[in-house]
Amino acid sequence: MPKAQETILEIDLRALEHNINYLKSKLKADTKFLAVVKAFAYGSQPKDIAPFLEQLEVDYFAVAYTSEGVDLRQAGVKKPILVLHPQAVSFYTLIEYNLEPNLYSLKVLKEFIALTESLDLNAYPIHLKFNTGLNRLGFSESQCDDVLNVLKDKNSVKIASIFSHLAASEDLKELEFTKGQISSFKTIADNLLNQLPYKPLRHLCNTSGILNYPEAHLDMVRSGIGMYGYGNSEKENKNFIPVATLKTVISQIHHIPAGQSIGYNRAFTSTEPITTATLPIGHADGIGRQYGNGKGFVTINGQPAPIVGNVCMDMIMVNVTHIPCKEGDEVLIFGTNPTAEDFAATANTISYELLTGLSQRIKRIITK
Ligand SMILES: *Cc1c(COP(=O)(O)O)cnc(C)c1O
Repeated sequence: MPKAQETILEIDLRALEHNINYLKSKLKADTKFLAVVKAFAYGSQPKDIAPFLEQLEVDYFAVAYTSEGVDLRQAGVKKPILVLHPQAVSFYTLIEYNLEPNLYSLKVLKEFIALTESLDLNAYPIHLKFNTGLNRLGFSESQCDDVLNVLKDKNSVKIASIFSHLAASEDLKELEFTKGQISSFKTIADNLLNQLPYKPLRHLCNTSGILNYPEAHLDMVRSGIGMYGYGNSEKENKNFIPVATLKTVISQIHHIPAGQSIGYNRAFTSTEPITTATLPIGHADGIGRQYGNGKGFVTINGQPAPIVGNVCMDMIMVNVTHIPCKEGDEVLIFGTNPTAEDFAATANTISYELLTGLSQRIKRIITK
């Protein structure tokens, strides 16, 4: 790679392929793989990621919202796309782009059926989500019969899958809770499959579910963070390669005497002479103010340079007093070392939030 001359996010497709192969190595040959590409493919670039994944023969895609599914279709994706959290206002568009809704309440189920009937559709694929303990979205176990009643004699839709979502699959202290979720999902699935004349797919596991609960892989698994290179544990992280590397460049170096303040609100005052580097990346790019004031650090010529004072909208200042460097030098924010998980931890957050919060104004560069 040539050195960064501005803020860039490098997306390594070879790493993506490695991660998928690793995740697939955990599955039985006939378990399907759903690639979660919501939130700009976890901050990367869905228009390049999704067609590449399609070549790697993932079976399904998922996004959160209808508009994200439309973007995938416009990028040429042909495989089925599950929309995890569609709103009724977007149902017509969803059908227009051949996207498949997650229907999670009797209200949205009835609304969707009414629309498919009015359009004279036949066996339009839908997905039903059940709540088994996350208490976020989904039918409850006790609603199984109501769901079946609503669907009775309705030919305009067909259940492509039933699924649920684990609340704490990465946290082995919650083993008992997770096993409870797995068993209640199995009960729900058995009940529904016994009463249906066909067999929808059953799926439950996200990345950490894949890694920690092989008995819950069922017919399909859904991976997001793992594909992008994070295993949610020190042990598993070693088996993945981070896909995204965030780099920037030193715009200007300042030699600051003792007793001067640096940045907005004068949050930092030098007690001795220091040297700072100003970098073209700020909270508008996704490096939030929580990383400021010595919490987060960037890496310059292999050495850590802590953020000085408050994070500005478009810039941060870092302490390079003890680092040999000059204007124009490349700066690493995160990549393989430190990783997005390491960087996120400095501000008490997680890789998911850091990656998905990276602004669209950062230039993405795909490497193969
Ligand atoms: C985001 C999401 C996933 C992906 O989870 P990871 O932990 O990133 O693998 C899977 N399933 C559902 C329902 C989701 O919302």
